[in-house]
Amino acid sequence: MLVIGAGVQGLTCGVVLAEAGNRVRIRTTDPPRATTSAAAGAMWAPTMASPSDRAPHWAALSHAEFTELADDDDTGVHLSKGRIAARYGLGEALPAEARLIPDLQRCGPQDLPAGFADGFRGTVPLIDMPRYLDYLVARFRGAGGEIARSAVQSCDEAIAESGAVVNCSGVGAHELVGDPGVYPVFGQLVVVRNPGVDEYFIELTESGEFISAMPHGDRLLLGGVKFAQDWGTRPRPRVREGILRRCAALDPRLAEAEVLDELVGLRPGRQSVRVQLERYSGARIVHNYGHGGNGVALSWGCAYEVAELLAS
Ligand SMILES: Cc1cc2nc3c(=O)[nH]c(=O)nc-3n(C[C@H](O)[C@H](O)[C@H](O)COP(=O)(O)OP(=O)(O)OC[C@H]3O[C@@H](n4cnc5c(N)ncnc54)[C@H](O)[C@@H]3O)c2cc1C
Repeated sequence: MLVIGAGVQGLTCGVVLAEAGNRVRIRTTDPPRATTSAAAGAMWAPTMASPSDRAPHWAALSHAEFTELADDDDTGVHLSKGRIAARYGLGEALPAEARLIPDLQRCGPQDLPAGFADGFRGTVPLIDMPRYLDYLVARFRGAGGEIARSAVQSCDEAIAESGAVVNCSGVGAHELVGDPGVYPVFGQLVVVRNPGVDEYFIELTESGEFISAMPHGDRLLLGGVKFAQDWGTRPRPRVREGILRRCAALDPRLAEAEVLDELVGLRPGRQSVRVQLERYSGARIVHNYGHGGNGVALSWGCAYEVAELLAS
């Protein structure tokens, strides 16, 4: 089998397929630590993703996997308390997956930062992506998988190599399969030396600029921005300044925090995640891309569905 892509989707599919006894090769343009996946915060959270008849199931399967992985220090996954909050009322309807958060409770006014009107507090899996991708690579290779740095130019080239192909090319699907519905959503994170933050915070908003803080031990990842249709690949000083200013309003210690690194990634935007079997010139291609800002949170569920589609 051939998997295209070594982000969180390609590697998770690789692990599931190789551990089921298949011979799997991954081909990727970028090494895992240079993918969008490596630049994610990242948290498992209820997603509101489409398709709405599949995404809650994918999120639930992924929650179970990440909760189990959090028992193992080597995975980069840990369970963290924290808050999801908004500057407007969030109403009473919650996404179905919210029931998976064992200690979910609504924030009282005293538990919200200045300017925020509503929010929830609860424990969710946080994933330190560079470490987690290393873990997936090791697990994939341990199951006999092989990773090659090599771009795939077309579906014809892919099926010439294998009759069973999984397309996890992220925003690269725009070009690889000519899907005009796939578009980049630029994101940037500022990595600072953690001054003692041990809870996550994420702002829900329709705006392209918001606050996020994800602690991973000594490193704290601060965000964030969502700029649709922006193919930029370099960190921008003005974006960094905006992130640090917004985060310092949340916690004044962050105004002085030492900046260690900056990360940029292109979320693979699409109206709906595409997990679909295509019969192509006598071969089978399972597409698995377009996860937007939820590719980590949906990863295990999507990988299981990919395996089922290949076996069907
Ligand atoms: C700042 C930021 C924060 C985020 N936070 C979260 C979060 O908290 N939770 C969450 O769930 N998600 C989050 N996301 C979204 C998440 O990162 C993405 O949904 C996810 O990484 C997509 O994974 P992927 O494997 O599909 O794509 P990618 O990680 O982009 O991987 C695509 C792979 O395909 C390869 N490729 C592309 N084209 C070709 C080709 N022609 N031939 C060979 N290889 C090819 C690339 O080299 C790469 O290996 C965040 C994203 C950003 C940018």
